[in-house]
Amino acid sequence: LNFIQKLPKAELHAHLNGSIPISLLQELAQEYIASPPHTSSISDDIIQSGLKNLLDGPSINEIADFFTLFPAIYALISTPSSLARATRAVLRLFLDGEYPQCDYLELRSTPKETSEMTRETYLRVVLGELAYYGKQKTGLIMSLDRKMGPEVLRECVGIAIKLKSEGESLVGVDLCGDPTAGDMEALRTYFDDARSAGLGITLHIAETLQNPPQETLQLLSYSPDRLGHATFLDEQAKNLVLKNKTCIEICLSSNLLCKTVPTLESHHIRYYLQHNHPIAICTDDALPFRTSLPGEYALMLAQPPLGLGLSEAEVKAVGEMSMQARFKNLPIAETA
Ligand code: 5GP
Repeated sequence: LNFIQKLPKAELHAHLNGSIPISLLQELAQEYIASPPHTSSISDDIIQSGLKNLLDGPSINEIADFFTLFPAIYALISTPSSLARATRAVLRLFLDGEYPQCDYLELRSTPKETSEMTRETYLRVVLGELAYYGKQKTGLIMSLDRKMGPEVLRECVGIAIKLKSEGESLVGVDLCGDPTAGDMEALRTYFDDARSAGLGITLHIAETLQNPPQETLQLLSYSPDRLGHATFLDEQAKNLVLKNKTCIEICLSSNLLCKTVPTLESHHIRYYLQHNHPIAICTDDALPFRTSLPGEYALMLAQPPLGLGLSEAEVKAVGEMSMQARFKNLPIAETA
């Protein structure tokens, strides 16, 4: 454990609302139930059963079950003050203490509009919390949800570009959400705009068997800097990824619990390790997957079948790759 704690490493794939400590959610739920906002469309029952599900350890039988966890969380994080508290708690979780989980955190979140805040306010609140730790330690990735319509996509990318031009630590744009939703061709223009403004691009890609190879190739043609999961790439897609040296954000526990990968033995990380290809080990959603970054690194060191059985030198190299893949490292020419 000492080895893992001291290893330089970056967390590059952590969703804000999937990483909030359960103790804070319980606190917010108590406050919510004591004085529910007039505008809320979510009943106490849904909040209670959502929290109970998270406390008991969510029953995730397939990736679709995982997405049902979020409505209760979103009801609780709907004001600037609850969002600031949640962000602060997540930053503390990753960056505070004698042995912080990582040396650098790129936190990602989808800007939400509520009766209490605009999408721009949402991003500014999160960035305000990141600012306490500084740009050397943190960056924000704005997630776009595959279900967003053109107006919202345009609005979000416009805000991200504006915030970057103001010198805020908004470093990239992500594509996430229900892997079966959306039209990938229609999304291209928004990622082109983000790239032209010097923002890094990361895409959740080929997470499920339902994602057709055609869609994967479409997404790869956006020229992403990194890819989330990339579990079901066919040979053509793998060759492109290897050729472009696109870093893969690997989330071992998430894949096992969502059952997109049956065992660590068969995990696609092995393919990338064999090809000496850039990867970053990440937590994805520490709350439902009950994990931490050191926990994910421990899975690499542990002997099979519990872990991957990698050597300390191999794990150290993975940590170095994660630091290399930070969006803040993008070449200046690309960020001009
Ligand atoms: P938020 O963006 O609200 O801070 O974080 C939660 C959101 O991230 C979820 O509603 C979902 O859209 C997205 N998300 C979290 N984990 C995953 C994942 O493993 N795959 C995909 N496609 N989206 C995810």
